[in-house]
Amino acid sequence: MPGQSSARFVCAASGATYPLTDRRWRCDSGGLLDLEFEPAFPRELIVARPPGMWRYREAIPVFDDDAIVSFGEGFTPMVPVRFGERTVLIKQEQLFPSASYKDRGASVLISHAREIGVSRVVEDSSGNAGTAVAAYCARAGIDCEIFVPADTSSGKLAQIRSYGATLNLVPGSREDTAAAVLAAADADYYASHSYNPFFFHGTKTFAFEVWEQLGWTAPDAVVLPAGNGTLLLGVAIGFAELRRAGLIAKQPTLFGVQAQNCAPLAAAFRAGDTEPSAVATTPTIAEGIAIAAPVRGAQIIAAVRESGGRIVTVSEAEIKTAHREMSRQGFCIEPTSAATIAAIDQIAASLPADATIVSLFSGHGLKAPEKLPV
Ligand SMILES: *Cc1c(COP(=O)(O)O)cnc(C)c1O
Repeated sequence: MPGQSSARFVCAASGATYPLTDRRWRCDSGGLLDLEFEPAFPRELIVARPPGMWRYREAIPVFDDDAIVSFGEGFTPMVPVRFGERTVLIKQEQLFPSASYKDRGASVLISHAREIGVSRVVEDSSGNAGTAVAAYCARAGIDCEIFVPADTSSGKLAQIRSYGATLNLVPGSREDTAAAVLAAADADYYASHSYNPFFFHGTKTFAFEVWEQLGWTAPDAVVLPAGNGTLLLGVAIGFAELRRAGLIAKQPTLFGVQAQNCAPLAAAFRAGDTEPSAVATTPTIAEGIAIAAPVRGAQIIAAVRESGGRIVTVSEAEIKTAHREMSRQGFCIEPTSAATIAAIDQIAASLPADATIVSLFSGHGLKAPEKLPV
């Protein structure tokens, strides 16, 4: 396949490179790994394939078709939704097989794991990434152990267990869970949605779908959740690849949304810093983006800044109002999804009236049925 011979891991900090067959999740220097890979976008092949994320086959760094782990996911509908005077295009990412967009990342990451012969993975998550990895491991026949905070929503825990994964409930914060998995990470394959760059080369397909669904053009702005930035960074990679390939004239402006109660990226952005701020946090109903110390925080801040966007915050009351408004329009989403939606009015107000704005529902409401608005 094109691009295979030159593809490799590269460490942004040290410049070290490693073959993709390495079962590593970070550089020997401790730095974060990114992927060097030359994607291709043959439009006549793309449109002839079924509507799903794997139709961008030549842009995904999995080389053996037999390794692909898929449920036919992706190509989610992009539905116009009214926000006051504005119409925003909302990708229905709650409609994935495991009910969140994390399936984009899990499909590519677990396909890669299968391609290099992995038989057992560990992963830590505040819920949905673990659920997605467990689902794709079940489909691939790979053993899977998921570490989650003990207070994760019951629906997500039940879902992880039902896929046959071993579930480890870790008392304390999301950071305590991240620390617990590291002990296992060196012995087993660490299928991390925040460290492993293959995950981001799955979530980037969101950008390709938007490009195709808008008639092979880029939107003006994309409003995205920002915790670990698994979608935000993927979208930045995806549009950068399209730009480099000469397929879009300009990359969209990226906006990141955090819960006010846990906003290390927004604080850094406001202060003009390049690294996430050390901030005091309090609990938020947007559990999926409650990340106090995002490992790729500097990359998220840089991607948003380079695009000309901002990182904004929303209050608990605004999240609850957005959740109720979307529910009353017939959309079943979880509170974390509502956090992104709650920021749309303030972001749209800063953009020209004719701007094309894209956002998403990130996870399904039945993930957290006890938190649905009444
Ligand atoms: C993972 C997730 C997000 C975004 O989280 P990041 O930490 O930025 O990757 C948003 N909504 C839902 C439902 C999620 O599962």
